Amino acid sequence: MKIYEDIETRLNNIKSKLQMNDNEIKYLLSHSNIARETLVVDDIEYPAWRILHNNSRGPGKGGIRFHPNVSEDEVKSLSFWMSLKTALMGLPYGGAKGGVKVDPKQLTNEQLQELSREYIRKFHNVLGQDKDVPAPDVYTNPQIMSWMLDEYEKIIGLHQPAMITGKPIELGGCTIRGDATAKGGYLILKELIKRLKIKDPKIVIQGFGNAGMNITQMLYRDGHKIIAVSDSKGALDNPEGLDINKLVYIKKEKKSVCECKSGICSPRDEILYQDCDILILAALENQITKQNVNKIKAKYILELANGPITSDADKILYDNGVLVVPDILANAGGVVASYLEWVQNKTGNIFEKSFMDERLTKLMINNFHNVYEKSLSDKDLDMRKAAYIIAIEKILAARRLRS
Ligand code: NAD
Repeated sequence: MKIYEDIETRLNNIKSKLQMNDNEIKYLLSHSNIARETLVVDDIEYPAWRILHNNSRGPGKGGIRFHPNVSEDEVKSLSFWMSLKTALMGLPYGGAKGGVKVDPKQLTNEQLQELSREYIRKFHNVLGQDKDVPAPDVYTNPQIMSWMLDEYEKIIGLHQPAMITGKPIELGGCTIRGDATAKGGYLILKELIKRLKIKDPKIVIQGFGNAGMNITQMLYRDGHKIIAVSDSKGALDNPEGLDINKLVYIKKEKKSVCECKSGICSPRDEILYQDCDILILAALENQITKQNVNKIKAKYILELANGPITSDADKILYDNGVLVVPDILANAGGVVASYLEWVQNKTGNIFEKSFMDERLTKLMINNFHNVYEKSLSDKDLDMRKAAYIIAIEKILAARRLRS
């Protein structure tokens, strides 16, 4: 099923709770701007997008993904979720996303730089610090943000570091951005463990990249038992708990978790069905669907990835008593840090790390409790529906004030 069709289903499922009319649903489902281009590097063509979903609350905000499966449907969906995420967190942004259909692992460093610069040459008209502000996403990183900033500033002939976030510190990046998505998810998970009195949870993590690896390290440092992790090549498990320091070293040196000898390697997707308490999804969309949902044994799921569970699977999980902390809340730490980076760049201010940590912590914990309380207020609401309702009310309120 197309991801965006699933979003439509989700909106229809909460329509009555929001007293939204059909016009408002139509408005939420439409995108303000869809820019499509073809990037050419060494005579090879790569389809590329920058899509602005909504800017009623502020400029567009959202990462750029380099991945072979990128499609317009995916970028449209990711931009929609960004609008909801920024609204839920109360940040002065709308939602946007970019993507290039490419396997960056097949490119040389020079080709990767050329592709990043070509992206800006093609899309600079729709970007800008007060228009639409990109950031890293899957397989893009601070170096790519640097090339993109440099190309943008060459074109406009001015410095404008706030046009992109997730930059290295030397180019105006923020000291907490690197692991902020993981930190945000970690703060929420610790709050959930405390509030629901979850004892000695066994934890499994799907996806061992920026988000997945960082949260694994944070939980491991606290003494939690991580019994399995996976990346795109395979899964590694050990019921006694994995040695995460060793695993991080191996992943950085040898590129796959399966090269590590501290556990047993199994097929990649088996990790989803492990007997565990907490499952952290930190890879890609559509991982838990109607087809595999009944094999899930976890009691709690944290969505660090965007859109890893489909709407029909969501309903079954809810009926099975599984609590899902939804993506637009669980992975919002990255955009909170991006916001602090943007404010620093726009004002020329330099924030203390302690100030930024405190802002991130407060925003994550307060919003977690707001969403959780809202979900308890109505037996038909899981945490995702509660989060969607809070976010959509803010977007529609901004629209009404403008019309
Ligand atoms: P990344 O590129 O750093 O890591 C992705 C990881 O997932 C890699 O280890 C890759 O091997 C693994 N992977 C890919 N397909 C897999 C599969 N089928 N099974 C298991 N592992 C698989 O990307 P990231 O930045 O960590 O992003 C991961 C998810 O988190 C994405 O959905 C992204 O949109 C979301 N997210 C990231 C951020 C951020 O700041 N990094 C912010 C918000 C949301």
